[in-house]
Amino acid sequence: MADLIARQGHEVDGNLEAHMADPTLPLLDVEAWAGTYAATLEPVLQRMLLAGWREGQRRLSTAQGKALIEGWDVFDPNVLTWAQNYPREFGARVNTAFAKRITQVVATGMSEGQRLSELRARVNEQVFSGTATKAKADTIARTEASRASDRGMEQSWINSGVVEAKVWRTTPMEEWPCEWCLAMEGKIIELGQPYFDQGQELETDAGKLRFDYETVQGPPLHPNCHCTKDPVLIDEEPG
Ligand SMILES: [Zn+2]
Repeated sequence: MADLIARQGHEVDGNLEAHMADPTLPLLDVEAWAGTYAATLEPVLQRMLLAGWREGQRRLSTAQGKALIEGWDVFDPNVLTWAQNYPREFGARVNTAFAKRITQVVATGMSEGQRLSELRARVNEQVFSGTATKAKADTIARTEASRASDRGMEQSWINSGVVEAKVWRTTPMEEWPCEWCLAMEGKIIELGQPYFDQGQELETDAGKLRFDYETVQGPPLHPNCHCTKDPVLIDEEPG
């Protein structure tokens, strides 16, 4: 992952001069990188989707007070198609956001009248420095695994036909959940609906958390979030 981001850094570097002359020219080939990211993380994402799916089934059987039926779900062709398409969606989403951020960094530099060499240094320092690259790679891998698991869980509830809503749950860990996650505790929303649309904000005493990256269908709320969610059965109030 870190290696891919370093390669993206070289691509941006190579495209910078042309982009300065014509800012409509892209700094990154988002479509190509979407495919590369998808191929790289596909095994992990699909494993996490299915793990989330099974965890969703387990929570559902607990909520219903029924024994868990193992195995049948994975052969549902809709589920397989969905799991196959997911990595590509992830790749497009992550790279669209990444390209947007890099373009903003460059635009800010250009508005300050920076020259090519200064812009190169700025992009390298703010986006592609060794530590920034490593941190970004780690965050993507961890957050996306968690998100895929959450998506798997939600999809299993949608397919079950007996779940009408989801309820946000914080998890007691060694550390207290942050203010934002505490604000989400117990929030119930219809299945398939987002808690937040892209661009919306959550405001608490700790400040604002803005969801620039994508819609929030469930946890994680932010990188390293330990929250989870439970099913709310049709005609049942959560305990
Ligand atoms: Zn959280």
